[in-house]
Amino acid sequence: HLETFLSKPHAEPNMVLAENAKRVVAEFDFHTEALQKAVDEFRREMDEGLHKDGTELSQIPTYVTGVPNGTEKGLYMAVDLGGTNFRVCSVQLHGNSTFSITRSKTAVPLELMEAKTSEELFAFLAKQIEAFLKEHHDEHYTTYKHRKSIGSATDEEIFSLGFTFSFPVHQIGINKGLLMRWTKGFDIQDTVGKDVCALLQAELDKLHLPVRVAALVNDTVGTLMARSYTSPGKTRTLLGAIFGTGTNGAYVEKLDRITKLANKKDAGDYDKSTGEMVVNTEWGSFDNSLRTLPNNPYDVELDRNSNNPGIQMFEKRISGMFLGELYRLALLNLLNLHDPRNPFYVSESREEYGSVSTKSRVSKDSPIFKQWGLDTSFLSICAGDNSTNLRVIRQTLDTEYSIQDVSIDDAKAFRDIAAAVGRRAARLSAVAIAGIVLNSGMLEDESEEVIDIGVDGSLVEFYPGFEAYIREALREVPGIGEKGEKRIRIGIAKDGSGVGAALIALVAAGMAGAGAE
Ligand code: BGC
Ligand code: MG
Repeated sequence: HLETFLSKPHAEPNMVLAENAKRVVAEFDFHTEALQKAVDEFRREMDEGLHKDGTELSQIPTYVTGVPNGTEKGLYMAVDLGGTNFRVCSVQLHGNSTFSITRSKTAVPLELMEAKTSEELFAFLAKQIEAFLKEHHDEHYTTYKHRKSIGSATDEEIFSLGFTFSFPVHQIGINKGLLMRWTKGFDIQDTVGKDVCALLQAELDKLHLPVRVAALVNDTVGTLMARSYTSPGKTRTLLGAIFGTGTNGAYVEKLDRITKLANKKDAGDYDKSTGEMVVNTEWGSFDNSLRTLPNNPYDVELDRNSNNPGIQMFEKRISGMFLGELYRLALLNLLNLHDPRNPFYVSESREEYGSVSTKSRVSKDSPIFKQWGLDTSFLSICAGDNSTNLRVIRQTLDTEYSIQDVSIDDAKAFRDIAAAVGRRAARLSAVAIAGIVLNSGMLEDESEEVIDIGVDGSLVEFYPGFEAYIREALREVPGIGEKGEKRIRIGIAKDGSGVGAALIALVAAGMAGAGAE
């Protein structure tokens, strides 16, 4: 009887939207069995990636063979090229699990993300480092310049820098790695296959800066190191994960399980004494062939219009760069604007009023009609609005998206779909966490009381309830359950990549306790 109901033109429009919303919410379902199947697949791909190259989960050996314990000391530099910003910092490690940090941040100009040559991007990065040194370490910088000009500068005056580079790199040494592919919004073909450390060092040298790129670090590895340095008690951290513009995780693996490393012809030197190495999973590419991932019409549409169709399929369902767009596509379907029964009135402009003012209105120039027009932060706003009349949601729709006079019932539909997109993203995130925790065998080891995980990124930080959704899913995984979930401790490692990169630069510089100055 819904059909007859719907065919009454404009009858009880809110009812139509609510029904439609239920359908769209169901399209984002990722139920328990699907979750369990995906965890099995994740574990299989983890093992496969440790044996050979070219697999969906890249399982990149990082040459980082130990995690810190908090006693490390010295002054180091770190930079972080993420999906959105470039950060520069210097870190003073105090050696008692604490540190002080000085930092700066610039948004990477969009045109540089798609530059013709690598040089354009890396010259920009070097310039930011120069500006940072002039602002925060001016004396050191000027003295060095002077001493260099009279030929008396020494190696001790050179900062060791940890380069956090948040993209997939085929690493062949602690400060040497070839870009495999760009992800997120970056697309500079010229860089693919090149050593990104050498590219940065060349630009630093052109400016005669007292900086040596000592270590190349994925942001997840930095997060893992930072969490391990600062985490409560003596516990070592198992996993560092990012849920931000992109998503990925790095974990501590037993060296003898990384069988592909022994066969690698281009493998650099590394310390074997710890028996472990951090592995960068690059889980953004988990199950690119969609054996177990959900794939609704909005996923298909988003991928088709992306700059890298068919890859980073897991990331496209989880991370901040994509969730807003996924939501926007679902919303367009919900509003069903081409159907005369649609509950919304499309106005020519934001100012237009008329006889239809009993309906919610969306202006023709609303950003929701443009690709990437809706920001993922709107999902956080939806999840955070606990008012009975959904005041914040309705206000944001009005001011940011030119959607006006939204009734409370309509606003509920907006909210429910946002929750469905966010919840599915968190449940998918749990797949990766579960896979790594289960493969580590730590749950079977009663002496390991807590399993510590460090996380960072805008989504975990700002999306209310993201961790709660993850935990709900973890409890549904056989082998984890209620008991296992309780042993998993998830902690934010804020700005982890800066401190983490500094820690790795320290180890790489081989002079623990003696940074620059
Ligand atoms: C990159 C990873 C990175 C993650 C989080 C992904 O797009 O491939 O290398 O760790 O984003 O920044
Ligand atoms: Mg980042």
